[in-house]
Amino acid sequence: MVHVYVGLGSNVGNRERNLFYAYDRIITIRGIKPIKLSRFYETAPVGGPPQPMFLNAVLGIETAISPFRLLENFQRIETLMGRVRTVKWGARTIDIDILLYGDKIINSDRLKIPHPLMHTRLFVLEPLVEIDPNVVHPILKKTVLQLYKELCFRD
Ligand code: ATP
Ligand code: CA
Ligand code: CA
Repeated sequence: MVHVYVGLGSNVGNRERNLFYAYDRIITIRGIKPIKLSRFYETAPVGGPPQPMFLNAVLGIETAISPFRLLENFQRIETLMGRVRTVKWGARTIDIDILLYGDKIINSDRLKIPHPLMHTRLFVLEPLVEIDPNVVHPILKKTVLQLYKELCFRD
């Protein structure tokens, strides 16, 4: 079993319900054991066109499902929840990103792990620090707490 951290975000419709719905769908996948769900953070959109505020969370799970299989499962949930991709970084009912998959590093077109922008995003680091401050970023070799502090106190 591998410890996996999943980023959830929604800024269309009932955002809280969307996060809970995605959470329910994820944890009922056979082979996924939920460990911790962060509280929900209201955050300003980063990048993309002007759009509503987000609700973001991070979910920690344990699983033996492969990273690519996991991505397929998550994209199926996004589609089921009416996610449509029009503009890059546009508004969405749900976004499900794989942030960390144990200490695995993956660099394919379809899947990059750790998520390449995770250390630059407070809306990812803050909930991640809440549930597991000591988890280590396998490329940067720093805990997420360190990364969070560096992002907060950068010049
Ligand atoms: P960002 O990746 O910057 O957060 P986004 O979440 O809005 O942007 P999407 O449109 O949801 O981007 O996803 C675009 C593609 O990113 C997906 O089709 C998927 O193949 C790819 N991808 C690469 N790495 C990951 C990852 N770690 N988790 C989820 N999707 C990923
Ligand atoms: Ca994303
Ligand atoms: Ca995504």
